[in-house]
Amino acid sequence: MEMSVFPRISLKPEVTNFLQSVFLNKEVLAAVGHQEAESRFQKLLRCLSHPPSYTCVRASTHLAPLEEIRLKLAEELAKQMGQCSGEEASLQILTHPQIPDVLLLPVDGPRHVEQVSSEVVVGAQCGSAVLRGAHVFAPGIVASPKYMKAGDVVSVFSDLEGRCTRGATSFQGKRAFVGNGVARMDRSSLFCSDEPVKGVGVQMVEPLYQSPSFDGVLPSLVFLQNLPSVVAGHVLGPRPGERVLDMCAAPGGKTCHIAVLMRDQGKVVALDRIRNKIDRILENAQALQLRSIKAFCFNSTQAVSGDAAPQAEEPPYPPESFDRVLLDAPCSGLGQRPNMGTTWSLKEICSYQPLQRKLFQAAVKLLKRGGVLVYSTCTVTLAENEEQVAWALRTFPCLSLQPQEPHIGSEGMLGAGLSPEQLRLLQRFRPELSWDQTGTAAPLSCRADRDTIGFFIAKFLKT
Ligand code: SAM
Repeated sequence: MEMSVFPRISLKPEVTNFLQSVFLNKEVLAAVGHQEAESRFQKLLRCLSHPPSYTCVRASTHLAPLEEIRLKLAEELAKQMGQCSGEEASLQILTHPQIPDVLLLPVDGPRHVEQVSSEVVVGAQCGSAVLRGAHVFAPGIVASPKYMKAGDVVSVFSDLEGRCTRGATSFQGKRAFVGNGVARMDRSSLFCSDEPVKGVGVQMVEPLYQSPSFDGVLPSLVFLQNLPSVVAGHVLGPRPGERVLDMCAAPGGKTCHIAVLMRDQGKVVALDRIRNKIDRILENAQALQLRSIKAFCFNSTQAVSGDAAPQAEEPPYPPESFDRVLLDAPCSGLGQRPNMGTTWSLKEICSYQPLQRKLFQAAVKLLKRGGVLVYSTCTVTLAENEEQVAWALRTFPCLSLQPQEPHIGSEGMLGAGLSPEQLRLLQRFRPELSWDQTGTAAPLSCRADRDTIGFFIAKFLKT
């Protein structure tokens, strides 16, 4: 089966060349040979522009048993699909053999969808959300037909390079078709209103990739989260009563998971540098009925202070204040899927390593002896992943790598001088390794482990 309906991810040539040098580094070439390394790299570029073949939601197992949530979700989604609840057969919702709080829903796609003559153009981010099951929200629309009225059937295109002028009536630049929908607003209310537009602008009826929309569905019981992100929470392994720090927390998906794993007993401190993102953390915590989360707007590179009072409520905190620390670092994000392209320069891609190291230094200081530090990113470079681990082990003799539970991804990638034993302790989710096979009949839970976003997890113990 031909999986590629979209061209490979579009990157600046300097970025493509850089990534190629990463995926075809000397250690990799010596281990698998040039042909295999090149083939993996090409598959990476192709799979990144496509969505994973299933949707993962984390279930609020602190509020109800998984099976009860699974049944409620099936009922809700059947309603959404306009079916009566008895007809649940078409809607598969699976549990995961190793992860006790996730539900997996297969994505149906790419499907054959006939384009129509009325065209709506949306921003690339909005286009990617549509490919993962969302409707088109009005602020995402950049162009629409001149006389578009609510009720019109339209074809939706993603503007891959951000070149379409807002308010245009047509656009012929680089674009990708993501499906058909029904306009919910007239053109005039989209572009001629004084107030910022809100709400659904186009309701998707024939998306290229069909996946349920989770907007407003069982808000306290299910939380849309990529599988590797859920794994990161389990790897951190927080326990009830502990004091846990999430250094880069917004919008709070992992923060909330941590609180759930602690049965909402103890304290989860969530920091983020961007003020309006703090509200998102608090909204999510409230929706999931979690009380143990305290969120603050703060630059985490400065979160440690020798003068801070012991047990301080607000940041900064004295050294050795936390039992566990999660550093889900700001990163170049090149593992995100679907991502049809980015106009980032090589300089921008490479700008994260120093910031991650500053955050890491603060993390090590804030962690108690005997405590656990988890470092994670959603990117694919060595510089932000394995090289950071090698640097951390050199810089902080008190740190050692620990086995991860569960470990369902691949091991770390060669190229940063780590030993085979060290690489085995790392967890890297590598969708490129199974990209050809994802269309096959492999059971969904196996496919789900491999056909993920690109993600990296390292677990350290401080002694
Ligand atoms: N952990 C989050 C989750 O699972 O929902 C995602 C975190 S995202 C990868 C990284 C976050 O780090 C962004 O929200 C960004 O605002 C924040 N950030 C970047 N630099 C920071 C800093 N110096 N201190 C605190 N937060 C920072």
